[in-house]
Amino acid sequence: SEKIKIGLVGYGNLGKGVELALPLFPDVEVVAVFTRRDPATLVTTIPAYAIDTILDFKDKIDVLLLCGGSATDLPVQGPAYAEHFNTIDSYDNHNEIPKYFAAVDAAAKTNNHVSVISVGWDPGLFSLNRVLAESVLPQGENYTFWGKGLSQGHSDALRRIEGVKKAVQYTVPVEDALKAVRSGSNPTLKTREKHTRECFVVVHEGADKAKIEKEIKSMPNYFEPYNTTVTFIDDATFDAEHTTMPHGGFVIRTGNSGQNKQKIEFNLELGSNPEFTSSVLVAYARAAARLVKDGKSGAFTVLDIPVAYLSEKSGEELRKELL
Ligand code: NDP
Repeated sequence: SEKIKIGLVGYGNLGKGVELALPLFPDVEVVAVFTRRDPATLVTTIPAYAIDTILDFKDKIDVLLLCGGSATDLPVQGPAYAEHFNTIDSYDNHNEIPKYFAAVDAAAKTNNHVSVISVGWDPGLFSLNRVLAESVLPQGENYTFWGKGLSQGHSDALRRIEGVKKAVQYTVPVEDALKAVRSGSNPTLKTREKHTRECFVVVHEGADKAKIEKEIKSMPNYFEPYNTTVTFIDDATFDAEHTTMPHGGFVIRTGNSGQNKQKIEFNLELGSNPEFTSSVLVAYARAAARLVKDGKSGAFTVLDIPVAYLSEKSGEELRKELL
């Protein structure tokens, strides 16, 4: 059967991740990447075009994967492209999801398109597990832990400090907190008790390390509410050990089904956050194509879509092999 033709909007970490993941999805092919930069400057095997030519591709693309950032790109690009294409995005600003959903839903419905928003692992696969766990164990508590993983926002905050040359921040779940949760005691955990923040910093020559460390540890919201460690390293160590983007975490629910304790746990250990997130985006492109075939339109989240729609396999194959 015909391959699903996708296009990419934006070529950052996620865009590159899609390019790397695509050979593993034989039923999906990428037709074009659209960028706000000069397309000739992108180092990619995908044909690159200026973003303002995108409407010429309306009949050549089944699903558009929006690979822009959640802070400023997607709030504009999500509704704008949902009007002209079926779209998938990884919008991850949890507080704003209801508002974003409404904007994309209205845009998608103007021309009967399907848009799946907030696809990835959190929101995404973690959300599926939170809902699944709460639905089958109504009496209990949900816990989400992130890490060990690189936080882009916190790393950016470190790099804005005067004297800092390079920096990364890893979010790490507190082992004792995980243990308490897994025991089924349903503990109430403060922010400081759930995660620690580990910073690795390269400074410019002559910078005052003590001052930088104090400034990091006292930074409101970002670091002050956590137990934060700061390790100063040199350029070579940074380049050798801190240039990949690992992430992951745990969704755990402990509860009681009546007379007995029950525990559900879902864990991700990701060597590369963007590569994994991109794979989830591509799987949901299949789902979007199926929803279109079903005659659906409007915005959807991972919670609204049958899991079988993510698979290349037929319902019959899935019932035989994986049910
Ligand atoms: P990037 O910052 O790498 O890319 C975002 C956009 O910035 C790109 O689409 C690109 O647009 C532009 N860009 C990229 N590199 C450059 C550059 N060198 N110079 C100028 N512009 C550049 O973001 P990510 O791909 O890492 O992440 C995108 C979003 O994905 C994040 O904001 C996050 O919210 C979300 N995410 C969601 C997850 C989930 O589980 N739901 C997990 C991981 C991420 P253009 O080509 O048009 O210039």
